[in-house]
Amino acid sequence: MKTDVDVLVIGAGPAGTVATALLQRDGFKVLVVEKQQFPRFVIGESLLPHCMDFLQEAGLLDAVAKQNFMQKNGAVFHRAGGTCNFDFATQFTSGWQFTYQVPRADFDLTLANAVAAKGVEILYQHGVSAVEFHDTHATATLDQRDGSQRTVTARFILDCSGYGRVLPRLLDLERPSDFPVREALFTHVTGDHRPEGREEGKIWACLHPEGAWLWIIPFSNGKTSVGAVATPEFFARYPENPEARLRAIISTDPSAGPRMRDAQFTFEPRRIAGYACAVKQLHGPRFALVGNATEFLDPIFSSGVTLALASASRASKVLTRELRGETVDWQADYAEHVMQGINAFRAYVTAWYDGTLPDIFFNAGRNPDIMRQICSVLAGYVWDKSNPYVTQPQRALPLLARIVKSQAGLATAGA
Ligand SMILES: Cc1cc2nc3c(=O)[nH]c(=O)nc-3n(C[C@H](O)[C@H](O)[C@H](O)COP(=O)(O)OP(=O)(O)OC[C@H]3O[C@@H](n4cnc5c(N)ncnc54)[C@H](O)[C@@H]3O)c2cc1C
Repeated sequence: MKTDVDVLVIGAGPAGTVATALLQRDGFKVLVVEKQQFPRFVIGESLLPHCMDFLQEAGLLDAVAKQNFMQKNGAVFHRAGGTCNFDFATQFTSGWQFTYQVPRADFDLTLANAVAAKGVEILYQHGVSAVEFHDTHATATLDQRDGSQRTVTARFILDCSGYGRVLPRLLDLERPSDFPVREALFTHVTGDHRPEGREEGKIWACLHPEGAWLWIIPFSNGKTSVGAVATPEFFARYPENPEARLRAIISTDPSAGPRMRDAQFTFEPRRIAGYACAVKQLHGPRFALVGNATEFLDPIFSSGVTLALASASRASKVLTRELRGETVDWQADYAEHVMQGINAFRAYVTAWYDGTLPDIFFNAGRNPDIMRQICSVLAGYVWDKSNPYVTQPQRALPLLARIVKSQAGLATAGA
């Protein structure tokens, strides 16, 4: 059957635009359907260096580089005055040594405009509300901005709808996350007292003394993104008003408090709760899930956009082969590859919240070679199988924590 398009992409976030650029380059007719009007706010503002590889592959890096976003050279973790400073220039994997901190409204618009400039049609304010899969094609129902509906036929649908989770909801693919419910409260501020030089653009993650953590992400437009992540019980101990609540949490953190002493909030803090999600499967006949429509873990290591771009890159390659008539194994060629990256980050997220990683990060006896390997994970290179801290983090991280703690104990006993 002759379909309207080869591929229907749901969502014009980073996953959707990178997948689209690659498929269009391979000669396929792609239609992008986006529920909102761009520019639009979305959270997820700190990229990892591995993103640069995928943006470059998709022919989108030049457009991003022209935006003069804040250069991000690393990540600094803070706890009770102690710091652990990762610089991507020292990482183990040979890859990009920097990336960007991006207000997502600007970043996502840049990518979408670059894709449109390549000749792809993007229908804004069109939401996909129903899908049907047939032997030869798929049909999607679009809710148009004037309230009417229309249908589009495609040989394949890539669901890049992020938090919209269109196909997981419509096809009953949702699975609860293994992580407990946490929530985030965040805003953008002016008046951030930033470090200078190479340190200015690094993300800060501050472990609050009462059990939350805070992010500080500086932008080149003079604003800084600040957010707190914790359990609902933690937030309930602070004032109910969102601004008073976030101010109280920031001001009681020994690292974020002084840096934010003159902060002016540019909008009332927004809250996202229970963001962690998972799915039963990443693909099926004539569809695949990409980016946040698959599984989202946690913001702590800024892995979301990297995983979105990595899955978009992989899905588009597998799909190109399928559309050219090859038999492909979506499970082996796509799902297992994506899950390797997700599972590597899962081990780090788990180790952050159970105290294993803070034990390593804030211990004076850290081994610089091992920290370079961990730095590569924080740079997003979670498919580098030559890095033992990628391949065996569940075993390596607790072992390392025990070693650094026992060395610290010996040093104290010897002093
Ligand atoms: C508190 C918090 C902090 C985070 N911080 C970071 C960070 O620092 N760094 C990082 O990399 N990640 C971070 N993330 C994760 C990041 O937000 C996501 O991983 C990332 O946006 C995923 O990109 P995506 O393209 O898959 O989806 P999205 O960016 O969500 O884009 C999906 C698009 O699909 C559209 N859509 C939805 N439903 C429909 C529909 N029915 N029809 C058509 N279009 C639809 C949406 O409007 C949207 O534009 C954070 C997440 C949270 C919750």
